[in-house]
This record gives sequence, C-alpha cells and structure tokens, in this order.
Amino acid sequence: MATQPETRHILVIGAGVIGLQSALTLLEEGQGRYKVSIVAEYMPGDDAGIYASAWAGAQWRSHETSFTEAAEWDVQTYRYWEQLVKNEDSVTGVAAVKGQNYWRASPISSSTPPAEHSDPWWSTYVRSYERISPAELPPDTAFGARFDTFTVEVQAYLAYLLRRIEALGGQAARARLPTKQGFAAAVEAASDVLDLPSRTHFWAVINASGIQSRDLVGDTNLYPIRGQTVQVRGVANYCITRLGVEEGQRIAVMPRPTAGITIIGVTVEPDVASTEINHDRVPELLNAAKPYCLELLGSDGEFDVVSIGVGIRPGRRGGARIELEQISDLKVVHAYGVAGAGYQNSIGIARKVLKLLS
Ligand SMILES: Cc1cc2nc3c(=O)[nH]c(=O)nc-3n(C[C@H](O)[C@H](O)[C@H](O)COP(=O)(O)OP(=O)(O)OC[C@H]3O[C@@H](n4cnc5c(N)ncnc54)[C@H](O)[C@@H]3O)c2cc1C
Repeated sequence: MATQPETRHILVIGAGVIGLQSALTLLEEGQGRYKVSIVAEYMPGDDAGIYASAWAGAQWRSHETSFTEAAEWDVQTYRYWEQLVKNEDSVTGVAAVKGQNYWRASPISSSTPPAEHSDPWWSTYVRSYERISPAELPPDTAFGARFDTFTVEVQAYLAYLLRRIEALGGQAARARLPTKQGFAAAVEAASDVLDLPSRTHFWAVINASGIQSRDLVGDTNLYPIRGQTVQVRGVANYCITRLGVEEGQRIAVMPRPTAGITIIGVTVEPDVASTEINHDRVPELLNAAKPYCLELLGSDGEFDVVSIGVGIRPGRRGGARIELEQISDLKVVHAYGVAGAGYQNSIGIARKVLKLLS
C-alpha cells in the first residue's frame, strides 16, 4: 500500500506581501506537501508605517537595469498578474493599466535610462511596448516608453492573498514575536501562539519579517528607505514614472481604478525611519506630478487630496536576502530586504522560497 507523504508544517513569520505570497505559493504549488501557519504583528488591514506592504503605490515597473535574478522575479510576477487579471472574478486589487516611463537626459540616481536609442531589457517581456516619439516627450527628457503594466490596490490585494491562504487551509495568528533572545526563541514563542508543543513541530520557517530582520536575525545590512505618497481623487489615464529627477524623489502617478483614486509620489529617503508625515514635501510632490496627469486637476488647477501616506521600505545593502540557513535545530528560509520592489518581485521570490525548501 502506498504511504501518504508526510505533511510538512511551515511557519511563516510576517504577513506582508512576501510572507503572504510565500505562504500561498507553498500551498498552491507545493503539491500538497505543506501545511502553513503565519504569525505576524501586522496583518492585512493594518496601517503601521513600518508595515511596508500597506504603503506601496504599487505598480509593476522593474528597477533592474539588466536581466538579473530580481529581473526574472519581476517577469514572473508580470506574467502571473496578467493571468490573475484575466481569470480571477473576485476582487484582487490588481488592475491592468497603461504605463509610461520617462528618463531624463542626465540621470542622478541608480535608475539609469536605457542608453540612447536602446530599449530597456524588459521591453521584450511586457505587452504593447513602444517608444514615445521625441516630439511627444516632456521637456528635459531623453527617452520615453509606453507599455501595458499593473497597479495594485495594496490593502485589497493583501486581503485577497490571505483569503486564498485560508481557503487552502492555511492559518494566520497575530503576535509580536520577541527579538532579544535569538531566532529560535522567537520561533518557540510562535509555537506557543499556535498552541503547538514546541518549535521542533515546524519542519521549516520562512523569515519574511521585512526590515525587522535587523532585530530578529541581527542583519545589519538592512536600512530604512522612507517613502511618502499622496492619495488624490480620480483615476489617472496612465501609470507614469519619471526617473532621474532630483535625488530623493521620483515622479510617480499610480492609478488605482477599483478604488477611484491615484497615488502620487514618491519620496525615496534612505536611512530615514520616521513615519511622521512631512507636510513640507506635499506641495513639492503634487506640483511635480501635475503636468503628467492634468485630467485629475480641478477647475482651480489643484488635486483633490484624500490622504497622505508614509511607509518604510526594507532596504538592504547587497540586495534582498532569499537564502536557506540552518539556525540551531531549525531549517530557515530568509525572504526579506526587498526595498521598493516587494510587490513586483513577489511571485518570483515565493517560487524561490519553495525551491529552497524542496
Ligand atoms: C511609498 C512606497 C511605495 C512603494 N511602491 C512600490 C511599488 O510601486 N512596487 C513594488 O513592487 N513595491 C513597492 N514598494 C515596496 C513594497 O511595499 C515592499 O518591498 C514590500 O511591501 C515589503 O514586503 P515585506 O513582506 O518584505 O515586508 P512588510 O510588508 O514590512 O511585512 C513584514 C511583516 O513581518 C512582520 N514582523 C516583523 N517582525 C516581526 C516580529 N518580531 N513578530 C511578528 N511579526 C513580525 C510584520 O508585522 C509584517 O507582517 C513601496 C513601498 C513604499 C513604502
């Protein structure tokens, strides 16, 4: 008689987009081998600034300047969202939108423009890519491209991921795990929260604790990248990003069709951890975005501001850490440090997590 394979109980620490997507991928693509429990301080619906997933724009716009591993993650997510938008009837929060990217002549940040007359690597991976003719480009712009892309109404998407996890038998419990006594003690605490005899009950642990891995596993490469956005009423015609503007800012216009709003932004402030709103930067963000979404301006030439948001991206020197490690008696897969790309990386990262466990 054939024996049933043992079900492997996986603890996921963290319920941001990385923890949730990893949990879902284990359940959906793990061939029935995994049982998943999530323990997290912040959950879908929460709005703490340190919970990065609550504050993303979010859009698909690869940050990669060549075909790196992270670029591959972006491509996997693009393809997955394309199917999701086509096939899913329920509210997912993901919307197909028209994108436009502009690069300035002399870029200042790492967001390098494609070399003159050459298209970015992702031009052959996205749908409907076309260059914007020089005559149509805004002033002081070297290169522009249009393409089909996606935006995410983040709280709706996080709730959708959790619904799917629960429908597949996964569970989620809210708790802040201790960080001072080491990782194994945090996992022991998670086993208490879930009413299990001990941490050895878990076959493996996914550490998707974002920037808080600084404390949880002592990763000093992690650093905060503060991002401030403004939500305005109305749905912009295009999802626009202008790269190579002043340091510390990029112009982004991210429509959320299902919510009837657009996210305007966004500041990029490395090593700033404050989640307080900086009111001085609001006019600067709005004025920079105005020429790119005139359709959102009222008769007074101003946006109708709904709210202002601040989130802390989990930056990491050396890039995201997606890695297997044995910590005392625990098999751990780290999945954190995804900076400003967690949504667009999420499907590729979750599949790598699954692969590392297999
Ligand atoms: C303004 C802004 C704009 C952005 N725009 C985009 C975009 O357009 N596209 C894109 O792809 N990305 C974007 N991002 C980046 C994206 O939001 C992040 O990369 C992503 O949300 C990180 O997800 P995460 O799951 O790693 O971390 P988080 O969302 O921070 O989740 C961490 C989880 O770990 C839990 N946790 C941590 N420590 C403990 C503990 N000790 N005990 C229990 N639980 C714990 C937390 O409670 C939380 O549930 C943006 C971010 C910001 C702030």
